[in-house]
Amino acid sequence: MSTLRFNAVTEALNRKPLNVLEDVKRSSIFGKHVFDDAKMRQYLTKEAYDSVRSAITKGTKIDRGIADQIASAMKDWALGNNATHYTHWFQPLTGATAEKHDAFFETIEGGQAIEQFAGDQLVQQEPDASSFPHGGIRNTFEARGYTAWDPTSSAFIYGTTLCIPTIFVSYTGEALDYKAPLLRALHAIDEAATDVAKYFDKSVSKVNATLGWEQEYFLIDASLAASRPDIILTGRTLLGHAPAKGQQLDDHYFGSIPPRVMAFMRDLENECMLLGIPVKTRHNEVAPNQFELAPIFEEANLAVDHNSLLMDVMDKVAKKHHYEVLFHEKPFAGINGSGKHNNWSLQTNTGVNLLSPGKTPMSSLQFLTFFINTIKAVNEHEELLRASIASASNDMRLGANEAPPAIISIFIGEQLSGVLDDLENVSKGKLSPQEKTELKLNVVGKIPEILLDNTDRNRTSPFAFTGNKFEFRAVGSKANCANPMTVLNTIVAKQLKGFKKEVDDLIDKKKLKKDEAIFNVLREYIKASKRILFDGDGYSDAWQREAKLRKLSNNASTPQALQIRIDRETIALFEQMNVMNEVEVKARYEVEIEEYTKRVQIESRVIGDIARNHVVPTAIRYQNTLIENVRGLKEVYGTDFRKVAKEQMDILEQISDHIAHINKGVTDMINERKRINKLKDAHKRASAYGQVILPFFQTIRYHSDKLELLIDDELWSLSKYRELLYTK
Ligand code: ADP
Ligand code: MG
Repeated sequence: MSTLRFNAVTEALNRKPLNVLEDVKRSSIFGKHVFDDAKMRQYLTKEAYDSVRSAITKGTKIDRGIADQIASAMKDWALGNNATHYTHWFQPLTGATAEKHDAFFETIEGGQAIEQFAGDQLVQQEPDASSFPHGGIRNTFEARGYTAWDPTSSAFIYGTTLCIPTIFVSYTGEALDYKAPLLRALHAIDEAATDVAKYFDKSVSKVNATLGWEQEYFLIDASLAASRPDIILTGRTLLGHAPAKGQQLDDHYFGSIPPRVMAFMRDLENECMLLGIPVKTRHNEVAPNQFELAPIFEEANLAVDHNSLLMDVMDKVAKKHHYEVLFHEKPFAGINGSGKHNNWSLQTNTGVNLLSPGKTPMSSLQFLTFFINTIKAVNEHEELLRASIASASNDMRLGANEAPPAIISIFIGEQLSGVLDDLENVSKGKLSPQEKTELKLNVVGKIPEILLDNTDRNRTSPFAFTGNKFEFRAVGSKANCANPMTVLNTIVAKQLKGFKKEVDDLIDKKKLKKDEAIFNVLREYIKASKRILFDGDGYSDAWQREAKLRKLSNNASTPQALQIRIDRETIALFEQMNVMNEVEVKARYEVEIEEYTKRVQIESRVIGDIARNHVVPTAIRYQNTLIENVRGLKEVYGTDFRKVAKEQMDILEQISDHIAHINKGVTDMINERKRINKLKDAHKRASAYGQVILPFFQTIRYHSDKLELLIDDELWSLSKYRELLYTK
């Protein structure tokens, strides 16, 4: 083995699980580092507390005087918990989190120093953020962006820093982040869903979207990862032959967790508890060294923040345990990739899950209302929903026979499909008393029972109803959930607004009773949304054909998928719902399309470098050994040597052939890159990267992986799949 690889493997094999402090009772440390409601009650005056509460529940403004009080209380709490710095914590369009730390420490006259944190510093900051992506919103010579406190997500201490969740906007008011549009989308769904929920319960005054994400990831020993420039620079392997043992045996899923991984998980969970991230489930995933972590669901904005924070914490805790955590959607070819299921529902301030049927027919009708409206929204905006999860890395996973395809469809199961069929046959206009009774008893009334034993599951569906929530499964493991959550909540909000109007019209103009009006509108929605419902095998070729007949979009690549983001109707939708204006929509598109190009560009450089600097030189070294051998045979056997040296000479030729292909591939790829980089149009550039550059990876990889099999293991310097995936 090459020294580098040998050292890496030895180091990895010799590692012991770190000693993690014995888990304290989880509930006793939960939220200890969060300035949550209980702490606000304790630290704030009643006036300040009421002001924050009202900002959270009603979106009212907090005046500067009160902000000073809150800042001072936050500072006292933070100092009492060993914090020395504070930061505005935000989510720029890179998808990661950003922070710039300032010390509380200030000097005052007479060489003295104090700890200070004023309302101004809490409420607003101006990070020097000119290098964050902005998609043309804010030119660097113009005004800078600023971050503004989001009181709906609690401040927390991470390490020794008080982190204040903020939105990031330009001075002209446009959102430069993921959170601002999400908050606006959540406001839109709150308004729209509350209005509709009032049909069923007048006391509903607020509806929260809820989100429970399930984070999948790989853990790779840090030394092994470090021996792979592709993993370090791109988060995935660009080369590497499949191991003799892959996941054929299905022996990893839900298997026992290795001790070193367990130590990492316990450490991570302790951190999560302190930070108030309610993690609950942990288990092995399908692929070797792949795992999943899921929390209890929360209000969507908080859940999004918690997921972003978690990814950051995981990175740090993993490093401590000498692991590299991979969030990439497809780190290993031929091995299952990772996703991040987004479980989504709507919950009223009265504690009712609107996607869970209650015990009475009326609450079941409420369930049907929200259920069918969601289906209709997804049907009308399937392409936009697909775009919300588009990225270069997720493209590698979608449709790869392990993850949902790039076609959005909804799975609802046989029994609920039956209910919709029944509803579709409801008469138009007024309902006879018999029909009403029949509906209540035999259609709507049966739903709770149906869902009680609803074991119907379909893992191939990108958007599945799972008993009391929808599960958006096409979201990538690396993604910031804010993007898909903004789109989903916006389209459902728009749909619910339309629904309310139609029902009210039937009540006012056609003099229908409320439930009659609702049945009438839902019936039409069911008819209009049929093409999106699909319970079959989403991975099959038959579905690709069927979806085409149904005119569902099937955008396999990100540049293709993103086009809908700047469609006129999309812009109108976001403007109507006050989620984003045209500038913001277009800016996001620009950032995303550029991001795609950059990702592929970086990967292309890395695969070119590894092929030329690692693979080819190693192949040549091995060739030299073979040449020596052949020369020796010639000395011994004289002119007859060809017979005994046949195999060696054959391998020599094979190696030369692979080297030639690799070299040509890299050279051609570089030339194409130069040509494509000159294209002015961002979409054309991205498409060309996808269509022209990506295929070179396959050629280079194919020949490199063949060399990996041919060349003496002693010489190969890159950690192999079997080492990366089977060292715990
Ligand atoms: P699985 O999908 O693996 O069978 P569960 O059904 O228990 O597991 O839930 C998966 C995820 O769904 C969890 O993260 C959970 O918090 C979340 N979840 C459950 N109920 C809701 C809800 N009402 N809204 C949003 N997420 C939810
Ligand atoms: Mg799930």
